[in-house]
Amino acid sequence: MAVLEIIRSVAELRAKTAQFRGAHATVGLVPTMGALHDGHLTLARSAKLDNVRVIATLFVNPRQFSPTEDFGAYPRDEAADAAMLEKVGVDVLFAPGMEDVYPEGFSTSVSVGGLTQHLCGATRPHFFGGVATVVTKLLLMALPDRAYFGEKDFQQLQVIRRLVRDLNIPTQIVGVPTIRESDGLAMSSRNAYLSPAQRKIAGALPQVMQETVAELRNGLVAAPALAAAKARLHKAGFDRVDYLELCDEQSLQPIAIARPPARLFIAAYVGKTRLIDNWPVI
Ligand code: AMP
Repeated sequence: MAVLEIIRSVAELRAKTAQFRGAHATVGLVPTMGALHDGHLTLARSAKLDNVRVIATLFVNPRQFSPTEDFGAYPRDEAADAAMLEKVGVDVLFAPGMEDVYPEGFSTSVSVGGLTQHLCGATRPHFFGGVATVVTKLLLMALPDRAYFGEKDFQQLQVIRRLVRDLNIPTQIVGVPTIRESDGLAMSSRNAYLSPAQRKIAGALPQVMQETVAELRNGLVAAPALAAAKARLHKAGFDRVDYLELCDEQSLQPIAIARPPARLFIAAYVGKTRLIDNWPVI
């Protein structure tokens, strides 16, 4: 098994990617915030299949958390993450310090219009600016041939596709389908916050989503189907539904009745833990 090399500085990362490119090796990049699970590892495995070299990144990005969110409490275990990445054959882990990413006086941000106004952008207005800024930086630091992102964060994936196109960043963005637990709950680093009782409640989310997707596929008008689904989630123990919407996959704007390419999007709270998910409808 190849040894995983851990790199901290942008200069070392650039030297490494120059070395890979000098050897005509294609490079795949897998950005993460750590606390890795099989969803992240599936991204890394996909990158391994498509590229000669794979670089994963680990950086908990403060710019995508609001002051009241869980930046401080976000789970961190670099040693465990590195061991998992080494096992799946990742070549390099880029784990920069705060100063390497946001040096003193950092004052630039990347903002993607339109796609970021709705869904998660409505309740987390800071979020996509933070994501777009850090992803742009990581892509420019590594200049990979391909970069891998999960469909679990579908709006984020579309925002990154848009910024790469708009800014002419020469990287192909690859979307990877959502990896789920055996009861259908999408894997997420934040699932670790759930108590056993809350974890049981969370299992209702994929169930209700699948039932609703079936109804929408059958041509039911979205509004009453979504209202009934929200009621079922509250009955199952969910504390708050941030949004549950049927949207066009490209524009991410709500639609009244399913037509391709449509997708059902949800964000809902069990206690203080916010879970998000999405399912293709057609
Ligand atoms: P995060 O560490 O949560 O920022 O996620 C890093 C990457 O892993 C993002 O592209 C996510 O969309 C992706 N990811 C997270 N959870 C899953 C999952 N359950 N299935 C597939 N990809 C995922």
